[in-house]
Amino acid sequence: MSRIFNFSAGPGALPLPVLEQVQADLLDWRGAGMSVMEMSHRGKEFMSIAAEAEADLRELMAVPANYKVLFMQGGATAQFAFIPMNLLGDKTSADYVVTGDWGKKAAKEAGKYGTANIAATSAAEKFTCIPDRASWKLDPNAAYVHITPNETIHGVEFTEEPDTGTVPLVADMSSNFMSRPVDVSKYGLIYGGAQKNIGPAGLTLVIVREDLIGHAKPTTPGVFDYKAVAEGESMLNTPPCFSWYVAGLVFKWLKTEGGLTVIGERNARKAALLYDYIDSQDFYRNPVSKADRSRMNVPFTLANAELDADFLKGANAAGLSGLKGHRAVGGMRASIYNAMPIEGVQALVSYMKEFARTRG
Ligand SMILES: *Cc1c(COP(=O)(O)O)cnc(C)c1O
Repeated sequence: MSRIFNFSAGPGALPLPVLEQVQADLLDWRGAGMSVMEMSHRGKEFMSIAAEAEADLRELMAVPANYKVLFMQGGATAQFAFIPMNLLGDKTSADYVVTGDWGKKAAKEAGKYGTANIAATSAAEKFTCIPDRASWKLDPNAAYVHITPNETIHGVEFTEEPDTGTVPLVADMSSNFMSRPVDVSKYGLIYGGAQKNIGPAGLTLVIVREDLIGHAKPTTPGVFDYKAVAEGESMLNTPPCFSWYVAGLVFKWLKTEGGLTVIGERNARKAALLYDYIDSQDFYRNPVSKADRSRMNVPFTLANAELDADFLKGANAAGLSGLKGHRAVGGMRASIYNAMPIEGVQALVSYMKEFARTRG
């Protein structure tokens, strides 16, 4: 067996101990005589898997009792629609702070169900910074304020929750979910697709404050009405059972590693290693303003874009995969989610140094 260092932006790397547990459980989950893929979601085995995953998530993130945790499908992209459908209620508009392509998409989709005001955007800066909070034009009558705490493509991340007063803060944490401690009570709703930091694709997590549910538009599909999902314990219909189970194993792994404080410090060290090297020389460059740099996705360009293909080829040969940047920004992108060990970042920096020395 040979495992490479996988820098893919998503689906991304999973912790090896999790994959090994999946392998050990695959044919016979704890004496059930079958795989988790083959179990009834209403049977006691899967019910225990589901409940334990939720309990571990709640413990890891210290989710307050007045929040529901929903295990849904459709990815973050489907939530771009479900959020306005569920949260607009009697209001007609929501505020969107757009700091990259994902936030732009979220606002565009919300515009189908109400008015999505762009309260602030860093589009003019090519999404290389978070607009200063003082410049945001928030509407006190908005149903919610939507942010993308980590913009996966541009590598821009909020370092703290913006104050939005009494208007609920809604956050797309697809690419930095559980990458550090967050104060859930500062949010009205947190959501994200699982496939970057949590588990396999197919599962979407939603953590929502209880008072925000129960206001869905009548046209909201029943299985995507948060209140119905909460009351049905995320099992109105067949949930993404296997992804839910693997996510549960990831939560166990996070607990074994020491929880989100330890993980957050490790992620900060990993990111610093890469940014410090990038800032120490002229061949590679990251355009994001230093205070707003992502600890999960690190885009960088080479001084000569004609060397991109050679850089990627050499990286693959060295066991470093998934480094091609998003087509919207070009260059490279190293996604260093929770499952990427520091050794992977060290190997990447060594490769970058050697490439710059021989080709720069
Ligand atoms: C990947 C990503 C999405 C899209 O997620 P899907 O689960 O594929 O719909 C949305 N927002 C952010 C921040 C992402 O990184």
